[in-house]
Amino acid sequence: MQAASGRDAPDRCPGAVQVHAAADGGLARVRLPGGRLGVDALAVLRRAALDLGDPALELTSRGNIQVRALRPGAEVELAARLSGVGLLPSDTHERVRNIIASPLSGRDGLGALDVRPVVAAYDALLCADPALAALPGRFLVTVDDGRGDVTALGGDVGLHGDRLTLAGTMTSCGGDDPADLLIRATRAFLAERAEQGGTAWRLAELTDGPARVAARLGASCGLGAVHDGAGPGLVHRGAGPGLVHRGAGPVVGWTPQTGGLAALTVVVPLGLLTQAQSAALVEAAPGEIIVTPWRTVVVPDVSVAQAGPVEALLTAAGLGTDPASPWAGVTACAGRPGCAKALADVRADARAAVEAGTVPGDLPVHWVGCERRCGAPKGRHVEMLATADGYLVVS
Ligand code: SF4
Repeated sequence: MQAASGRDAPDRCPGAVQVHAAADGGLARVRLPGGRLGVDALAVLRRAALDLGDPALELTSRGNIQVRALRPGAEVELAARLSGVGLLPSDTHERVRNIIASPLSGRDGLGALDVRPVVAAYDALLCADPALAALPGRFLVTVDDGRGDVTALGGDVGLHGDRLTLAGTMTSCGGDDPADLLIRATRAFLAERAEQGGTAWRLAELTDGPARVAARLGASCGLGAVHDGAGPGLVHRGAGPGLVHRGAGPVVGWTPQTGGLAALTVVVPLGLLTQAQSAALVEAAPGEIIVTPWRTVVVPDVSVAQAGPVEALLTAAGLGTDPASPWAGVTACAGRPGCAKALADVRADARAAVEAGTVPGDLPVHWVGCERRCGAPKGRHVEMLATADGYLVVS
């Protein structure tokens, strides 16, 4: 039996309405279920960042976008602008719309199903249920089309192909309405949490959480093996001998889609989209972008005729379109001056290391300004931990 682990305070995950007071001003996190962001909405978000806070948009390890350094009270204007383009469908549920999905699902011919409708349906059901506003902001839903990319990110509830996962454990639960199954599992988490004291943030923190939630879903729902994210569905197209591939998810560069189109995955250096880069994405993307949990951005649905101009535009803006980009897999927390806890300007130090070619190894490398380790990638990686005496390399 797993030991219960209670929390003595509510989580303080920021939202776009409930902003966090950081050292550099208000920090707003805009949820993007499945990472999808239409170009019109991106244009509005970009302009809002320029007008109201730090012009750069910050990508998160859950495929969301943050706006930093908001001036006092600017969150009201930000919320109004987001609402106008559909990025804030619910004030009450904004912090709990944490849904990661296979970025290329339904486009590249891989996976057992197109999960985009599942994400949309789950999000709508979530926002329609007032009780689900009580979910912790840390609660995570992964919707994996079976290829094994986002299941590995450790969702509390998830879909892997046609099966439900609970805290990374495969179950025998399936069915022809996966969004409804995910919602029932989400409600079961809250019910089990209430029975155990109501303080856990994650399913794995509950005593026998996966088993008890599975039992609440019915006698036919049994637990199977833990899914480690590896397997035949995990495909790194474009990888080859000698190619450094840090991280997971869509490989940087072009991926053929069905129907004669293609998707271009670009590296965003240190997960910070400058104004020039977001403008280039608005201009280049035919309809939407997909922000991935690996701090890359996918531009899907590009025609053969547009491939060259799109790649040239994004490359000129400083986005990495080469799978061997030195920025691939290099991430950093906010650090100084944005975070009061930081012992170093980790972004400046990471940038200097990339430019000097001294980033260690071929694993993902994450730079952090203190032991809270914000934004650390899931799985094996090298950590550059700022201390009072310089960086500690932890691998
Ligand atoms: S890891 Fe530490 S320094 Fe970095 S953002 Fe988190 S709290 Fe701040």
